[in-house]
Amino acid sequence: MQLNNFKFNKKFGQNFIFDTNLLCAIVRDSGVKKGDDVLEIGAGAGTLTDVLADVCNYVVSYEIDNNLTDILNAKFKNKKNVKIIFADALNTSLQEIENNFKDKYHIVANLPYYITTPLIFKFIESQRVESITIMVQKEVAQRMVANVGTKDYGILTVLLNFYGDVSISRIVKRQSFTPVPNVDSAVVNIKPKRHECNCEVFSKIVHKSFAMRRKTILNNLSTGFSVDKNIIATWLKKNNIDEKLRAEDLTISNFVDLTKTFDTITAFLS
Ligand code: SAH
Repeated sequence: MQLNNFKFNKKFGQNFIFDTNLLCAIVRDSGVKKGDDVLEIGAGAGTLTDVLADVCNYVVSYEIDNNLTDILNAKFKNKKNVKIIFADALNTSLQEIENNFKDKYHIVANLPYYITTPLIFKFIESQRVESITIMVQKEVAQRMVANVGTKDYGILTVLLNFYGDVSISRIVKRQSFTPVPNVDSAVVNIKPKRHECNCEVFSKIVHKSFAMRRKTILNNLSTGFSVDKNIIATWLKKNNIDEKLRAEDLTISNFVDLTKTFDTITAFLS
């Protein structure tokens, strides 16, 4: 109806939502309110954009597919508080995107699964992002909120929870999308928080720790940094971490401790 002869493009991960109740629920989950500015990524047919525009001050929405130009321009012709930008949000610099806003803004998006993680990490360190509400594949959402010691707990869990407080606000069945995808989804809410250690070092330690999930933390760090096991053992001991544990048993604060004491091993790095 609204879409006339529009052909869904698999390449752009197009699964649209037309259910107004669901769209309103997503906007409620995001907590955005009157006066807020919002960045949406992946306007699609503009259904979520429309509900956002009714609730908040200003919506900027990026859409990569030029075949949606006529539909979107017609739909928002008379809405002064909507700006549609036809561009790839992943390849647009953070600076350029943020130039659309006066100050802080929220992100709300139902976008293709393959760009969710890179997009989250593109924005999460920005001081101007107040919250990120994003639709992800259900299994990915479960990894995002996994508890320490479970098989879902991994690099994504540790990095994301280091940068923000993460929660799932609802599960969305695959039948809610057009066309129907092969997986169920979940709405995830991320509130960026302050972190007090070197992010690059933190990320490096986390990646090396999880390199081989079945290996001990001692072996992974020794192999990953090419540093003798005795040196790594001293570093772990200093932080009260049992060298026989696996990465999935380490809490975020264990990884923060390792980051803060990284100088224990820096002299031995080649
Ligand atoms: N938000 C809409 C559409 C969801 S489908 C709804 O809920 O109905 C995801 C949309 O993201 C598609 O329209 C697709 O063309 C767009 N998209 C995919 N990759 C993108 C990118 N890198 N930048 C901007 N938009 C993108």
